[in-house]
Amino acid sequence: MTEYKENADIAVVGGGLSSLTVSILLAHAGFSIRAFMPPVLPDTRTTALLSGSVSLLKRMGIWPQLQDCAAPITAMRLIDDTGRLFRAPSLSFSSYEFGHFQFGFNVINRDLIRKLDAYATILPTLTISRQKIIRIIPEDKKICVFPSEGSPVQAKLVVGADGSNSLCRESAGITFSKKMYDQTALTFNISHTLSHKNVSTEFHTRTGPFTLVPLPCNMESSVVWVVKSSESSEFLALPDHLLIRKIQERSHGLIGHITSVNSRGSFPSFQLTALRMASNRVALVGDSGHVLPPIGAQGLNLGLRDTAMLAEILEKIKQEEGDIGAPSTLSAYNRHRQSDVATRACMTDLLNRSILSDSFPSQIIRGAGSIAAKRSALIRNFLVKLSLNSTSQTPRLMREEN
Ligand SMILES: Cc1cc2nc3c(=O)[nH]c(=O)nc-3n(C[C@H](O)[C@H](O)[C@H](O)COP(=O)(O)OP(=O)(O)OC[C@H]3O[C@@H](n4cnc5c(N)ncnc54)[C@H](O)[C@@H]3O)c2cc1C
Repeated sequence: MTEYKENADIAVVGGGLSSLTVSILLAHAGFSIRAFMPPVLPDTRTTALLSGSVSLLKRMGIWPQLQDCAAPITAMRLIDDTGRLFRAPSLSFSSYEFGHFQFGFNVINRDLIRKLDAYATILPTLTISRQKIIRIIPEDKKICVFPSEGSPVQAKLVVGADGSNSLCRESAGITFSKKMYDQTALTFNISHTLSHKNVSTEFHTRTGPFTLVPLPCNMESSVVWVVKSSESSEFLALPDHLLIRKIQERSHGLIGHITSVNSRGSFPSFQLTALRMASNRVALVGDSGHVLPPIGAQGLNLGLRDTAMLAEILEKIKQEEGDIGAPSTLSAYNRHRQSDVATRACMTDLLNRSILSDSFPSQIIRGAGSIAAKRSALIRNFLVKLSLNSTSQTPRLMREEN
């Protein structure tokens, strides 16, 4: 058994939002952390953080620094814009109806990464290196990670927050299932002449959702437009005035005239689910464990639930002086996360496929579901709780403070 000089309780691999969050949470819990976070490419997207995620950021002490660059979402609207003969009725949900000031906040990813990174760098038990990890060797009592430069590090546990092509997942021998959709998500930020009134609107079109999410300025919104993959490059190549015209048509004048468009981005849509969330001294968090199509703002919110649950379990094991990388610890994490991940993966896949499907039965089922959600307070309440992640399985760190 090789021994390496550099030691830490936990090695975290990945430079994105899941990695920053889990590193901070685990450093707060008193673990010594070596994080390998290569510099990230500029991310022009925004993330709708639902209330549980906001509670987590508040508990971490980061929220006061983010509040100024976050737009509250006080209502959500779903509109069937498929143009089919049988259309589902529009649904709208106001946060006040459910006793909340808002459902969550929309934050620009760049701001989120910058603020989390600045906070992470000052924590005394967290050491950040900007190298990539190129090899990981799990052993019985420890695990070793090898950066592209510098010495290897040995730890009791590796947290794999290294995204959909995860080396951590592969090194732990965790298999996964992947489904590609013939869809690409185009992202833009736009200015418009009417206030968005803090409403997030998801139009369901024949190619997927077209979503408008409020930005902190009343007259600016972010757009996620899911189109057929074969059409995406054509859209992205359009000059501003023609792209504005297309967005104008799609938004049906809800936010007035579109006056500018910027920050173009493009992301292929797919679903990936790891068959386990932990094994062989590796625990997965975020997109390394699950990637969902961009419907209903579930992706990072689900990843943050992983981070909060992992922190909760490891803190307890630490208090009991147990082994944080032992099979029993990893099984507990797996048990707590697997059904939540599977439920949300199934929900988003079903919703996505029902929007795309031209079949009459699936249109009827979707329409009937919308009618029930429109009329029944019980169903409305259930749907809002489910989409806000506020169920009995919500990690303690994500529950609202009284
Ligand atoms: C168009 C679009 C809109 C979205 N909107 C929302 C939304 O509104 N709400 C929401 O909750 N979610 C949303 N999502 C999902 C969300 O963006 C992702 O779930 C989230 O960014 C995943 O973060 P992550 O840190 O887990 O993974 P990533 O962002 O993929 O980060 C992984 C990081 O690991 C690094 N890495 C990879 N390999 C290594 C290695 N070997 N060593 C070290 N580092 C490594 C990479 O460089 C990268 O920085 C959206 C997604 C898309 C595509």
